[in-house]
Amino acid sequence: MDDCIFCKIGKGEIPSTKLYEGGNVLSFLDINPASKGHALVIPKKHYHTLLDMPHEEMKEVMEIVQKIAAAVMTTIPGTEGFNIIQSNNEVAGQVIPHVHFHIIPRSKDDKLNFAWEQGNAEQEELEKYAKLVKDKL
Ligand code: AMP
Ligand code: ZN
Repeated sequence: MDDCIFCKIGKGEIPSTKLYEGGNVLSFLDINPASKGHALVIPKKHYHTLLDMPHEEMKEVMEIVQKIAAAVMTTIPGTEGFNIIQSNNEVAGQVIPHVHFHIIPRSKDDKLNFAWEQGNAEQEELEKYAKLVKDKL
């Protein structure tokens, strides 16, 4: 896609701090990191959301997500955990409409907070939504 920042990074038209490039996958550091070592993993081809991606490319991307996360865990000082964040559509916080996985290294007292308020649901309601989803699989 012509005016997509991540497509441009993929084509080398915009510089990035690359971590990995191979097959259909690219990884580079986030330019505005939530924590030190905050990495992004993207398919080289333009897909808006996860639902647009072919399974094979999805597998390739996930393999690299795991690899980068493992490397971050052992190399970025203080890292004791990580969050994977992947947002789909604007309502979910997706700013760049090209599929990307955030790998955000976590350390004690890093002050990051991805927590949400826990809700409540009756068993009947859980079953209702489970049926809707299961019937579509
Ligand atoms: P999202 O809000 O999930 O769409 O995330 C987009 C991410 O892309 C943000 O964390 C930005 O900091 C990051 N970003 C935007 N432009 C660049 C760029 N040129 N190089 C690296 N990361 C970028
Ligand atoms: Zn794109």
